[in-house]
Amino acid sequence: MITADGYFADQPVVPGADVIYRPKGNAGEYAPLATNPYVGCGHGCKYCYVPNATHIDRKRFNEGAVPRDGYIDRLARDTARYRAHGICDGHAADQVFITFSSDPFHLGDLTRTRATINVLQAGGMAVCTLSKGGLRALPFLNLYRPERDAYAATLTTLDDDFSRKWEPFAALPRDRIAALSRFHEAGIFTWVSLEPTLDVQASRDIIAETRSFVNHYKIGRANYLKEITRTTDWRDYTLRVTDLCMALGVSHYIKRDLQQFLPPGYPNDLRVVQRHPKRVSA
Ligand code: SF4
Repeated sequence: MITADGYFADQPVVPGADVIYRPKGNAGEYAPLATNPYVGCGHGCKYCYVPNATHIDRKRFNEGAVPRDGYIDRLARDTARYRAHGICDGHAADQVFITFSSDPFHLGDLTRTRATINVLQAGGMAVCTLSKGGLRALPFLNLYRPERDAYAATLTTLDDDFSRKWEPFAALPRDRIAALSRFHEAGIFTWVSLEPTLDVQASRDIIAETRSFVNHYKIGRANYLKEITRTTDWRDYTLRVTDLCMALGVSHYIKRDLQQFLPPGYPNDLRVVQRHPKRVSA
């Protein structure tokens, strides 16, 4: 739900919480906490559900990310509220996902992204970004802390033309993969969102190609895309992709929409810790 002043009003976690919230439904499978510094995104993904979910005109949404008025002050007040409840400083649920209403590394001015990360970290929270901005994230790399934060990318294909068709203004797949690799080299926890699945073979190819520098995969299906949703054999996809993950030994989570196809007792942790353990010096 979106409020009259343009803020999401999902479930507050601590009394009075305002712009750091607990996402529901499909989004809730991505993160226990989230915040949305912008509204709108210029990546123009054909499958983007945000305009529908937030009742924003798609043309306006696609014109680019707009920073929300008064957001940073509200964020600072929220971090104090979370601190008062002990959700900070390494608490298991203190990582905040940026963002469900835009891309944190969109094509416009990213000053707000930097300020959001700074305020969250100064308030004792950890951060996780999910992006299709690829190497646009690199100037921010030094802000990420291996023992607290995470960097993630959405990948739907390895094919540039396919990506241009579905995500016309996002960074190309190789660029996103290069960013993942750079964050991994810097010791940051990395993960990949394989959702929406537009091409079942591509998802498997992505895992095979990126597994040496990706710590975790979140795997979903395509919803609301009539042709793909209807014609894909989701049972077969689930079995094939889980077989591959098991064979390669990669950490993964199968999202709720596909769980009906998992064998009974299949290990499927919703909340994998998205940070690296503290190194103990000898
Ligand atoms: S990057 Fe995300 S928010 Fe932006 S248009 Fe694509 S799906 Fe929507």
